[in-house]
This record gives sequence, C-alpha cells and structure tokens, in this order.
Amino acid sequence: MNNNTQIVTEDLKNIWHPCTQMKDHESLPLIPINRGKGVYLYDFNDNSYIDAISSWWVNIFGHVNEHISSKVKEQLDTLEHVLLAGFTHKPAVNLAEKLVNLTPKGLDKVFFADNGSSAVEVALKMSFHYHRNKGENRPLFLSLSNSYHGETIGALSVGDVELYKETYAPLLISCIQTPVPKDQSEDAAKDAAVGLEKILEERGSEISALIIEPLVQGAGYMHMYHPLYITLAKDICSKYGVHLIADEIMTGFGRTGTMFACEQAGVTPDFMTISKGLTGGYLPLAITMTTLDVYNAFYCDYNEYKAFLHSHSYTGNPLACSAALATIELFEASDVIGDNRKKSAYILEKLQKFKELPNVKEIRQTGMIAAVELKGYTAEERIGLKVYQYGLDNGVLLRPLGHIVYFMPPYIITYDQIDKMIDTAYEAIRGL
Ligand SMILES: *Cc1c(COP(=O)(O)O)cnc(C)c1O
Repeated sequence: MNNNTQIVTEDLKNIWHPCTQMKDHESLPLIPINRGKGVYLYDFNDNSYIDAISSWWVNIFGHVNEHISSKVKEQLDTLEHVLLAGFTHKPAVNLAEKLVNLTPKGLDKVFFADNGSSAVEVALKMSFHYHRNKGENRPLFLSLSNSYHGETIGALSVGDVELYKETYAPLLISCIQTPVPKDQSEDAAKDAAVGLEKILEERGSEISALIIEPLVQGAGYMHMYHPLYITLAKDICSKYGVHLIADEIMTGFGRTGTMFACEQAGVTPDFMTISKGLTGGYLPLAITMTTLDVYNAFYCDYNEYKAFLHSHSYTGNPLACSAALATIELFEASDVIGDNRKKSAYILEKLQKFKELPNVKEIRQTGMIAAVELKGYTAEERIGLKVYQYGLDNGVLLRPLGHIVYFMPPYIITYDQIDKMIDTAYEAIRGL
C-alpha cells in the first residue's frame, strides 16, 4: 500500500467532505497533501501539483510563505486568542488601521467575523438594522442574478446559483434578483442598470441593500462584467436609500488588477466584505467594513437599544490577524499588483490558442482570473471532472466549475509555471 492510499482509507472512515457526493470517492481518489511550498502542493508520495486555483482562492502568495509563517509563529508565542468584546489586542488594532487606509475612502469601521459567509451575514444584518434604527422597515434584499455569497442561510438567500440554493429554498430569507450585466461591455452594464432602476422604482422602499460581487462572479461560473455597472448601481441605490454591499471576498487583495475591484469603478460601497486572500490562506478570518454613517446609526445610550447584536467565539483572532498583517506587508514590500498585470497579459496571450479548439466557446479575463468556457457538453458528462483528473495526472490542480476551466493562481507563480499550468489545461481540453 503506498503512503497516499493509507491516509485516504483512514480519511474516508470518518470525514464528510464539503460540496462532495461522497460516493464519488469510491472511484475518484482523494488527494492527501503532505506539505506545500510556493505554488506547489505535495502528496505523501512526493508527487507535486501546481495549485492553479490558490486552494479555493485563498492562498494568494502560495503555500508556506516565509514571511507570513514567521509572523504567525511570533504571534503564537505572544497571544493566541482573547475575546474581542470588552477586550482588544494589537494585531486587531493594527489590522483595522491598515484596512481603513487600504480600502476605498470612507470605509472607516471594521467589524470582525471568521469566514466569508459570516461577513455577508453581518453586512445583511447591519444594513437591515441600520434602517430599523432610522425607523424604517426594509425586510427585503436585492442581489444580482447568478450571484454567490456563501452557504449559510442568510448568505445563501442572497445567492442565485441553483446548484447551491434550490434544495434549501424553503428555509431562506426574502431576496429578489436584478439581472447581472450579460457580458463585459459597457452596453451590457447600462442595460443592467436600467433593470435595477426599474426594480428600485417599484420596491425600493422595501429593500435594505443590493449585494454584488464586483466585476467577477466567482462561483457563478466566472461571469465577468464592466466596472461601469458598479458606478451606475451605486448612484441608483443612493437615490432610493438602498445600501450597496460589495462582496469582495474573492475579488479583494489584488485579484482583479487593483487592490479591490470597487476601485475600478471609483465607488465606495456602504459595506465591503473581505476574507479569502485576507490572511494569505493561513487562517479563517473575515471582515465587514462600513462607513461612519452606518456606525453612527447604532451609536447611542445603552437604553435606546440600538446596538448591533452579532458575535462569533473567534471574532478577531490574533493569530489570524497577524497572518492578515503579514499578507498586507507582502503587498507593501513589492509591486505585487504591477507584477500581476504583466502576468495577466502573458496569460491572456497564451490563452489565444484555445480559441482554435472546436469545444471552446469563450475566453474571459479580469486581472489574475482567467476562464475558458467550453461548449457542446451536457451536465451529465461531467466534463469538468475529466479536466480535473487530467490535471492531477499531469501535476496541475485545476478544478473547473461545470464547463468553465479557470485559472486563479497564487501571485508568486512564475512564467514557466504559467506555461505548465496553461499547456496542461490546453491538452486536457483538446483531448476531451
Ligand atoms: C467564498 C465566497 C464567499 C463565502 O466565503 P466562505 O468563507 O466560503 O464562507 C462569499 N462570497 C464570495 C464572493 C465568495 O467567493
């Protein structure tokens, strides 16, 4: 029995994996990972895999980064955790200050949570509660068609990907959808804004907030749209007193070519949720940023009972905060975003040859996210799974979303590694 098989057998005895039909693992082996370094993951037989998806989009500087590791180790011997109600600590204070400076101007308050879905829940509750504190009842949320905001009940409610949502529909809170721009053109952005205005004209006074994934809908099959839509949406929402929540959980921290995707639209949202890249993939941490206007609507004497009621046991965990601080230091230490732009251009150039393949429908890119949409397959064919398996057999972790093969590599990927990643995907698609 090789080293991998033993740990896989032990795993399947006890572990129920996320987003998985467990029966698949009768024929599809789990990949046990022993260690990581840079863009590479290594299994227990020392086979290496280029992590082309930054392990569900979190490891933006790859695995076992020296700087982040050393900062977390330092923190580990100082203070591992303390509650954040009535107490505070340096990593949280320093991180909050950095984030206020880093995010679009006007996002001056930092509320901690511990995973992306929770940060979305916080934003939804805060927005609803803000209106309530102002004497308004707005029990409805608005989101974009095809959106994804996480899988806890509130976050799932504002999502619109059928795969995740359909089964749980009877449990969800009230949310309606407005059309996402259909492609990356300015015209599509304008059309979608007209649709938004129409909904708000009719129901604006019932709606607390519009939540969007700025520029790229990740789990919604890497659908992309023009920044103009965000600019227009912000103006329209303001007109109807509806908050704009920018869910930057995936797009934040340089992924789309700017530190935050909203910057490309010149917009400061009322709420911004961040997680994923925030700690460089080291520890679970999430944050909901908001404005002084929102903060002040909760600020009053205790007996007015307007305080925001939300907490998690691990709120603002010091180890996670230290990982986030170290991650931000890596952005400060070199021109990460400038280098990403060069790598993005190189990736796009390399993807041109995919257009010649008869089963390729479209190539899309926003910053360090590139997607190849395939055509001519039914869902039953599970084409993504075939690409996934081909990738693993050839040392690249690709994890297509349905018939979308995408690349979201760690920013430290080298040009040679980009070649290997893309050439492997090309061969996988060509051989389908
Ligand atoms: C991943 C993701 C979430 C959910 O974050 P979790 O940490 O997985 O709960 C929410 N919104 C977007 C845009 C995401 O990509």
